[in-house]
Formats: sequence, C-alpha cells, structure tokens
Amino acid sequence: MPNKTPITVATGDGIGPEIMAATMRILEAAGAQLAPEFIDIGEQVYLAGNSAGIAPEAWASLRRTKVFLKAPITTPQGGGYKSLNVTVRKTLGLYANVRPCVAYAPFVTTHFPTMDLVVIRENEEDLYAGIEHRQTDEEFQCLKLITRPGCEKIVRYAFEYALAHGRKKVTCMTKDNIMKMSDGLFHKVFDEIKVEYPGIASDHMIIDIGSARLATHPEQFDVIVTLNLYGDIISDIAADLTGSVGLGGSANIGEHVAMFEAIHGSAPDIAGQDMANPSGLLLGAVMMLVHIRQAEVAARIHNAWLRTIEDGVHTADLHSAHSASHVGCAAFADAVIARLGQQPQTFGVVAYADAPPAAVTAKPLYTRAKPAAKKLVGVDVFVHEAQGNADYLAGTLTALAPMQFKLQMITNRGVKVWPGGFPETFCTDHWRCRFLAADSQRELHHGDLVELMQALMQRNVDFIKTENLCTFDGERGFALGQGQ
Ligand code: NAD
Repeated sequence: MPNKTPITVATGDGIGPEIMAATMRILEAAGAQLAPEFIDIGEQVYLAGNSAGIAPEAWASLRRTKVFLKAPITTPQGGGYKSLNVTVRKTLGLYANVRPCVAYAPFVTTHFPTMDLVVIRENEEDLYAGIEHRQTDEEFQCLKLITRPGCEKIVRYAFEYALAHGRKKVTCMTKDNIMKMSDGLFHKVFDEIKVEYPGIASDHMIIDIGSARLATHPEQFDVIVTLNLYGDIISDIAADLTGSVGLGGSANIGEHVAMFEAIHGSAPDIAGQDMANPSGLLLGAVMMLVHIRQAEVAARIHNAWLRTIEDGVHTADLHSAHSASHVGCAAFADAVIARLGQQPQTFGVVAYADAPPAAVTAKPLYTRAKPAAKKLVGVDVFVHEAQGNADYLAGTLTALAPMQFKLQMITNRGVKVWPGGFPETFCTDHWRCRFLAADSQRELHHGDLVELMQALMQRNVDFIKTENLCTFDGERGFALGQGQ
C-alpha cells in the first residue's frame, strides 16, 4: 500500500458540499490513498471580512500539501470582493489551466459527438494582472502584461501535455495581427518551442477565426494553447459544446502546487436538493490522482464513471432518451462505486501513466536569457486635456520641450492625430505625446526625463503617466502609432 498523500480539500458553497461528499466517497471506495486536510474558503470567509475569500491559516495547508481539491464557491455580490480563484492561481504560481472538453455521445446530447480536445490556458498574466486605472474623466485603462517566461512555461507545458497524453496536434491562438508585441511574443515563443517537438503537429490561428472554428468544428482540434483571456472564453465555449457544464473538470498546474476543480460554479439554484451532477469535480479529482501518481486509481474511477454514463444512470442535467434511471447526486456516486472495476463498453477504456505532465519534461520550463543592451531613446507622456486640440497641444509641448527632446507625434486612443491628423478622428481627453531624442545618436537618461517633467509641470500640463521608449539590442521596444 502506498503512503497516504496529504491533500487540501475545500467543500465550497452552494452545491459544493454535496458534490464534494460524493467525490470523496468515490475516491475512498476506489482505494485512493489520501490524507485530506479541510479548509474553509468562499462566501462565509468573504463575509467574515477576508476580501480574498480565504483565511490566512488556509494558505499554510496549501503550501504544506501542495495539492488542492476545491469545490466551487459563491462570490458575494457587490464590490470589494477579490476573485478567490485568481488570487489562489496567482499567489501559488498555477500557470497552466488545463480543461479537457470531451463529448460523451450518444449518452450525453451534443451536436459534436466526436469532439475531444483540451484547452491549455495561460493562467497568471494578460489582462488578469488586474492592474487598472482611471486616468482621465473619460479614459479607463487595464494593463495587458505578457512575459517571455510566462509564454515559455505555458507553451512548453502544452507540448509536454500533448506528448504525455498521446495528443497529436497543438494549436496556438493569439491576436498578433493587432497586438504585435504582446500576443506576438506568445506566437514567437510557440514557433521557437514547437520545433523541439517534431512528432507533434502544430499550427497557429488568429483567435477570432479560431474561436469561430472551435464553435462550428470542435472535432478538428486536439490541444489548444492560448493566452489567459482568450482561454477563459474559449474553454467555456468548448465545455458547453460537450453537452453539460456539469461534466467538465479542470487542473491548475504550478511548479510547486496544483489545484483541481469542476469548471462550473456553485449553482445556488439547485443547492441542497441532491440534484447536482458531481462529475465535473470527480473528473477534476481524477486529474489530481494522475498528478499525485495514483494513476491506477484514477483509471479505475474514470472507467467506472464512463460505464455509469453508458448505463444511462444520469443526474437531472443529463436527462435524455438515453437515460435509463434518473438519480440525485448521492445515488449517482453510489452507481459509480458499484461499477468500480468495470470497464466502459462503448467509450474507449481509459489508461493513465504514473507521471504528471509537468514532471516528465527533462527540459526546463523556461530559461532566463541574458539581459539585452537597453537604450533609452524617448518617452511617451500621457496627458489629460479636455479642452484642447492636437495642434494646440503640439504647439505647447514643442515650445516647452527641453532641447534634447523633439515631439514626434501625438495620438488619441492610439491613432495619430498630430502631425497631419484628420478632422474626422474622434478625440477624447486622453493624449499620448511621444518625445524622442532630438539627436538620434544620443542616449537619453532618467535625468532628461525629469527635466521634461519639470518643464511640463511649469506649464501646468496635466501629465498622467509616462512610458519609457527603449531599444533592446537595437530592436525597437515600442509600437508605432496607428497611422504613423
Ligand atoms: P454555475 O456554473 O454555478 O451555474 C450555471 C447553471 O449550470 C445553473 O443553472 C446551474 O444549476 C447549472 N449547473 C452548474 N453546475 C452544475 C452541476 N454540477 N450539476 C447540474 N447543474 C449544474 O454559474 P453561475 O450561476 O453563473 O454562478 C453561481 C456562483 O458560482 C456565482 O457566485 C459565481 O461567482 C460562482 N462561480 C464559482 C466558480 C468557482 O468557484 N470555480 C466558477 C464559476 C462561478
């Protein structure tokens, strides 16, 4: 008998306690060797004054066990409550969100009976950094942060996952025709890493046509790797195409800790009625067992679960002509337990190997490159100006700029409005004013920027923020203005 693996368990809110009880019973009956530590998260913890929905002592358990089986929680309505999921993912470095989306036709009604794909979503970066500011009366900003280590980790994870799970193709989705630097980096890293996996086919799609194709032909996809926001959206679409949100499990994988859960929420509309389908959480728990090297138990549960679905033992969300008996959450768990040791007759039999995908890689998940030679060549100054127009602002800024600077352009919402702007361009009160070194051979220094700021201050220009313009090993580290 293997030693029991300590795991942290949160029973959550709404249907959480019901589906967790059902899942834990199945895990125990299947012979999973687990030593659960229970923690409180969610609604009550929020309402007790912890704005993140998790008590300080719960972190100690998570950091000790490094494995988290989590039921869904209810986020209270109203402002001030931070998303617990985002907090846990980012605090514990859970960089990969893995969501298998599989059709179980004909037993679960779906338009796409052969779909079987996995969305691997970057989980820590992108617009989810949560760095937002109101800068003027009219303009609000959310910063999109993409890093090279972040891209390398998720792209390599996707290829390693494909290798470990016998998947044939990895599709990268970005919007790099518009966001050439941030999404462009993700695509570039994908192109760099894919050549290390010649046995796995790969392609890239722009996210708009990619998601359209996913919604109409999901059977054409195998593994999809994408940035955080796109992955959030397309994984919900893909999960829904399989037939029920109650069926999806997901893993959040980090270098140190991993979290497993159902993809759905706490379903308060059916809570406490023994109606919920525990399958999503159970399939999340199956991924957990593979992760903690109890692959044999994982396969036993997964096969018994498939057999249960085939036998038409269905919870309310799966009712169809293929349902032989309609059961509640607890009776569904009993049915799975009764089938432990049996194999599916129609679906393929599942087999798992005892190795978590992230650990099978002999290659480092990312390598920090030598810092590039960085040269400061200018600065973008963002200005709040409600009354003025671009020509007037340009006149003011040109007159005040210290001699080491020249005003190169002004944009409004990214579109060049000076020099040579169009009267048709709608302008808000938020102007980006680009100053470059007057002598392009001369490197600028922070002292030059301070001098520029002082000149702006003396003329009462309401500057909101600045962005340094640099080259890295001679390569431009900033985008041109639209129309420039
Ligand atoms: P939801 O996923 O809870 O419910 C959507 C619909 O699906 C409901 O009709 C529900 O009855 C049904 N459903 C969901 N899970 C089911 C299951 N296992 N079996 C049968 N039917 C199921 O989404 P929602 O109603 O938008 O959100 C409810 C709460 O859950 C909110 O407070 C939200 O913030 C939270 N939430 C939590 C998580 C999480 O903890 N991971 C994820 C999403 C939403």
